[in-house]
Amino acid sequence: MAIRLDGKAVSAHFKEQIAQEVADFVSQGKRAPHLAAILVGEDGGSKTYIEAKDRACQEVGFNSTILRFPATITQEELLLEVEKINNDSQIDGLIVQLPLPKHIDENVITQTIIPEKDVDGFHDINMGKLAKGDHSGYVSATPLGITMLLKYYNIDTTGKHAVVIGRSNIVGRPMSILLSESSSTGNATVTLCHSRTQNLKEICLTADIIVAAIGKPYFLTGDMIKPGAIVIDVGTTRLDDTTRERGWKLAGDVDFKEAEKNASMITPVPGGVGPMTITGLLNNTLKAYKRSK
Ligand code: NAP
Repeated sequence: MAIRLDGKAVSAHFKEQIAQEVADFVSQGKRAPHLAAILVGEDGGSKTYIEAKDRACQEVGFNSTILRFPATITQEELLLEVEKINNDSQIDGLIVQLPLPKHIDENVITQTIIPEKDVDGFHDINMGKLAKGDHSGYVSATPLGITMLLKYYNIDTTGKHAVVIGRSNIVGRPMSILLSESSSTGNATVTLCHSRTQNLKEICLTADIIVAAIGKPYFLTGDMIKPGAIVIDVGTTRLDDTTRERGWKLAGDVDFKEAEKNASMITPVPGGVGPMTITGLLNNTLKAYKRSK
């Protein structure tokens, strides 16, 4: 049976470290790091994520501001709000919760956040730096959090075959770059798979490490996992669940019950990658704060 990679506990460990650093800065008379988040509209999932990030900021002693706007806000109005935060020396990092309403071009918004405050790592400059192996920028929080998890568990990626399923700009692609770069959590031989990949099962069966970032519940079945492989499940899809008061449950991309029989290590959903994503974001915000000093 696989060892569970406990993202919740690992996240708590890193949060303690961050909180200590913040306390040290504050005791020297400096202001605390400050993360601003823009939330547009009333999407339940987005609200939940923003509130979780807000709570995490408070836990580590960051200042946190949530700016809420109605779904009717225009792109021009939203750009002005982003500009205000770009110019606010009291704010170190800014995230804009996606998705945005259809009349707003997400790319225009994310490229307007100055790279120095782009703690989500979506700006072209930060993505370009990542592609070049330049660590002075920000890496998207989920792949960064996964890297921190791998490091915490001393998982040796060198020379391993890592299969990343999903090529999104926020998860799959940056993950594939991190695993392939020359670093202590890289040096893997990476195969990046997507919906046009042929023979996915055969490819997965050659993987020492699989990162599933697809958004299709229970897609990765036990028979796609080589005995002893390490499985990282990024997927978070809300499925109806009438047995729960809130009416839904979170489903990963991995058929956990079957997968844990073959894998050597595996992340659960919830409690795996999710908390590590927030840790990645806190890490980036602290980095932005230190840079601004
Ligand atoms: P996305 O932008 O929708 O990308 C999904 C990727 O999966 C695409 O590259 C797509 O391929 C690929 N895919 C779809 N069907 C496939 C198939 N049958 N075989 C192989 N590949 C397939 O999603 P995302 O933003 O990366 O997110 C993925 C999942 O992670 C979602 O459930 C999301 O909610 C979750 N997520 C969780 C966290 C967290 O903190 N835990 C953070 C971010 C995202 P094509 O490119 O060919 O379409």
